[in-house]
Amino acid sequence: MNNRNAGIGMTSQRTRMRMIERLRDQGVKDEVVLNAMAEIPRHIFVDEALASRAYDDVALPIGFGQTISNPFTVARMVELARGGRTLHKVLEIGTGCGYQAAVLARVAREVYSMERLAGLLSKARVRLRELGMRNIKLKHGDGHAGLKDQGPFDAIVMAAAATHLPEMLADQLCEGGRLVLPLGTREQRLVLVERNAGGFTQSVLDEVKFVPLIAGVLA
Ligand code: SAH
Repeated sequence: MNNRNAGIGMTSQRTRMRMIERLRDQGVKDEVVLNAMAEIPRHIFVDEALASRAYDDVALPIGFGQTISNPFTVARMVELARGGRTLHKVLEIGTGCGYQAAVLARVAREVYSMERLAGLLSKARVRLRELGMRNIKLKHGDGHAGLKDQGPFDAIVMAAAATHLPEMLADQLCEGGRLVLPLGTREQRLVLVERNAGGFTQSVLDEVKFVPLIAGVLA
């Protein structure tokens, strides 16, 4: 591990454990998710100037007008996506800085993550390589279409808000699979879509605030 990963002061293991205690207080119960977040050094995913705030309960800018979600939102989404199951294949839409992909890669065997902005994707790739995480495949592309060839997925997590349910993504869930997404424009809610033998069920959950899902890719 290099100095940045080793972490000193505000970025130490102790700071990370305080974040985990806060997540418990906020109602996160899934120990698998909490363990994953206790292990992933969140500070290396943000610019060094912001590293001291990496474990606070805030969203932070990651460049290109995008943000990394606050720790509670990441924990909540991954907990919902897992639904207490063992995950084999997971798809994330919106890699951003790669933090949530790293958390997912600790709770799933194989993670595919799509990002439309090549600039963010290449930075995420460097960080995930630094951490030696080999079970994440990053794809430059528009997440609206998902990754049909790699599916079906046990879980799909969207890190950007859609205006309507992307049916192409729901179709890439396996039976028993779960899709978690922020839905809406000015007012957004987390929505959980579950696929079962008879079709799909939808639960509308917490109020959230995400950057919008945007069509098309940028080199
Ligand atoms: N999970 C990320 C959060 C990133 S914010 C993290 O841990 O940092 C949401 C990301 O979704 C942004 O990087 C944005 O560029 C990306 N995005 C928006 N629309 C997209 C689309 N149609 N396909 C893929 N990525 C998209």
